[in-house]
Amino acid sequence: MSDDSFQFDFFVIGAGSGGVRAARMAAGFGARVGIAEARYFGGTCVNVGCIPKKLFAYGSRVLHDHAVAEGYGWHGAPPTLDWAAFIANKNTEISRLNGVYLKLLKNAGCEIFESRATLVDPHTVKMDGVHYTARHILVATGGQPFVPEIPGREHAITSDEAFFLPALPRRTLVVGGGYIAVEFAGILHGLGSQVTLAYRGDLFLRGFDAETVEFLAGQMTHKGIDVRFKTAPIQITRTADALEVVMNDGNVVVCDTVLYATGRVPNTNGLGLAECGVQLGVDGAIVVDPQYRTHASSIYAIGDVTNRVNLTPVALAEGMVVARRLFAQRETEVDYDYIPTAVFSQPPIGTVGYCEADAREKFGDVRVFTSSFTPLRYTVSVEKERAFMKLIVTPADDRVVGVHMCGEDAGEIIQGFAVALRAGATKAVFDSTIGIHPSAAEEFVTMREPTR
Ligand code: FAD
Ligand code: NDP
Repeated sequence: MSDDSFQFDFFVIGAGSGGVRAARMAAGFGARVGIAEARYFGGTCVNVGCIPKKLFAYGSRVLHDHAVAEGYGWHGAPPTLDWAAFIANKNTEISRLNGVYLKLLKNAGCEIFESRATLVDPHTVKMDGVHYTARHILVATGGQPFVPEIPGREHAITSDEAFFLPALPRRTLVVGGGYIAVEFAGILHGLGSQVTLAYRGDLFLRGFDAETVEFLAGQMTHKGIDVRFKTAPIQITRTADALEVVMNDGNVVVCDTVLYATGRVPNTNGLGLAECGVQLGVDGAIVVDPQYRTHASSIYAIGDVTNRVNLTPVALAEGMVVARRLFAQRETEVDYDYIPTAVFSQPPIGTVGYCEADAREKFGDVRVFTSSFTPLRYTVSVEKERAFMKLIVTPADDRVVGVHMCGEDAGEIIQGFAVALRAGATKAVFDSTIGIHPSAAEEFVTMREPTR
């Protein structure tokens, strides 16, 4: 396999989710692999993404759980938060994971460069002024937060900084309506901040099932988050002791922190891509063919830098396809249908398959089954949280093509249903499946009468 005219068979730029997986696998197949990381091993997911976000989400449920406990006869003052200890413990775990990723790469036999890499030509990368050649190069540089240009933008933070705040803000304005905005609104509220969420459109989480999202918006409002649609900041000003945010509907929000979660942009600037013939789309993302090959045939790209489905498990799957294809002569593909996903909002959304609007467009007169209820856990507590579940079934062949849930553990519950949908399960299969009692998830196999 080795071609000694190159120093490496495979050079990976970026040791995030996708890059690490591709590098390790390629090395396992016997390739001579180099990998460069400019900032932190494990990339966005480990350092400023999925992992610290989920730890934040767990931490933010403590007061909620305490309030629920009252109904079970537990009394006592609500626990107080030691913010510094919380952040320090989170940081310790992230450092441990950085070490794990580094070790995985070392044990796989990859040569590791703790440097920023740029492209010189289709077979050469440069780090710290030194050139290295490779038969194939993989760009897996991920993305970074995008903040629109408005006066006072410098006063706002993004999710990157939110993980390292010196103290919990007393009042927070969260701007945006994607995963990060909705997740952080729940997290900060749960931790004790007074949260306003401002989204520019009619309903946040565009592209998700609207009825499920409306249910979430209702639950968030019920918990005390000030959810505002059709509004966005036009100016942020720092006063002596606060931030004043003028909104485009004329309102002014006074807060301590403005958290922008208005999307992310691919890390392609200054990499030398154009000089190598790699083409970018209008969004600045690298354009790739179904094998993740760019317009320069020796350069591949995967993960968030291609800005398609920006999720860690997708970046991992793409990395494995590239490594297998180049170094194990195995042609595999990522199947982008029925990718399950969860929004770790409070309560969370778990979803797989078509939303109702898309299903109607594709399959016609679908049958829709819905259920909204108070889970058993909340029956004896004053603190309430409801759950919503929805199935979408095709008229022609009874296939379940959409499973949506907003409620406790939705992310855990939907993973299993994703397997069922990918296996082509029909509503009849759902109906003949015995439920697990008592659970919230059993509702998915006991919904008999269509709602519409
Ligand atoms: P990244 O993980 O971003 O890795 C890219 C790496 O390349 C970085 O380490 C970067 O430092 C490095 N790099 C960049 N340029 C260079 C260079 N020139 N030289 C050397 N190194 C370079 N996804 C989920 O599936 N579930 C979640 O719950 C989830 N939560 C998230 C929460 C937040 C707040 C954010 C921001 C993202 C979340 N994501 C989640 C998305 C997930 O983190 C990304 O989809 C995933 O990390 C993409 O992996 P990647 O390999 O493409 O890029
Ligand atoms: P998203 O792309 O999901 O959402 C961006 C949001 O910002 C949208 O609501 C968008 O509105 C809004 N927006 C964009 N531009 C502006 C603007 N100029 N002014 C006001 N609002 C604006 O991005 P996120 O930053 O939330 O997350 C990035 C990606 O990371 C996600 O798409 C997801 O792939 C991944 N992620 C996954 C998570 C998970 O799996 N649980 C958690 C967090 C992130 P509109 O809809 O109107 O365009």
